[in-house]
Amino acid sequence: MAIIVNPTHSQFPVVVMCDRNMVVTQNDTLLSLKDIETLQQYCEIIDRIEEKEFSICAIEIADTTSLPDTFKIKTIRQFFAENDEQTTLLVSRAKALINWRKNTRFCSICGSKLKNSLQFTAMECPNCKKIHFPRIEPCIIVLVNKGDKILLARHTQRNQDIYACLAGFMEAGETAEHAVAREIFEETGIQVKNIQYRGSQSWPFPSQLMLGFTAEYKSGEIRTQAEEISDAQWFDRDNCPATPQPGSIAYRLIHQEY
Ligand SMILES: [Zn+2]
Repeated sequence: MAIIVNPTHSQFPVVVMCDRNMVVTQNDTLLSLKDIETLQQYCEIIDRIEEKEFSICAIEIADTTSLPDTFKIKTIRQFFAENDEQTTLLVSRAKALINWRKNTRFCSICGSKLKNSLQFTAMECPNCKKIHFPRIEPCIIVLVNKGDKILLARHTQRNQDIYACLAGFMEAGETAEHAVAREIFEETGIQVKNIQYRGSQSWPFPSQLMLGFTAEYKSGEIRTQAEEISDAQWFDRDNCPATPQPGSIAYRLIHQEY
């Protein structure tokens, strides 16, 4: 897939982002190219990517303090919660590409400054010719069942106001199923069986691919890993504390939407 930077025209919907927020119309829709002509009179555009194969134009702006009244901001996560999979896929792709370009400036082999590839959606080293493709980091996320109860945990570092599924990055060399069993045991001391894949979701904060699983309790008592988990408990599915909002694979796992 080829990437076109700074295109001169486009019929695509435009995903305008500013860090974890995005700009939408007052009707909650993505912007058009005509909207961008207005927007750029008020906001500084710091990156812009168009990709024909995914039918997207992605724009990052410097800040939203001068945003005209015809537009509003909302968090990307909120947009995920309110829109269908087809639309959120566009936004995921846009966010992932913007993040990747922000974090991919120099060649990891020889240290030279990278240029846009003319052939692929990639960056190319003008010195050693290494092609750097967008990076995806696979993570597992799992809901553990024990009869009518589910295992949810509160994390020490992130989302401390909610109880969520257990999740973690995959380690080099392991399968997703190994990662599920390892992560649950490390964080809670619980061993599981019957690990089942339930679906995936792009989670571009900054570049995760979440692989969703369910598993059944096999043995063990809850013993939390203090540096990762502040609390973990078995909850009744119908009587849970605050949990992740719609639009996330965690929500789908907890509410059995798979
Ligand atoms: Zn190089």
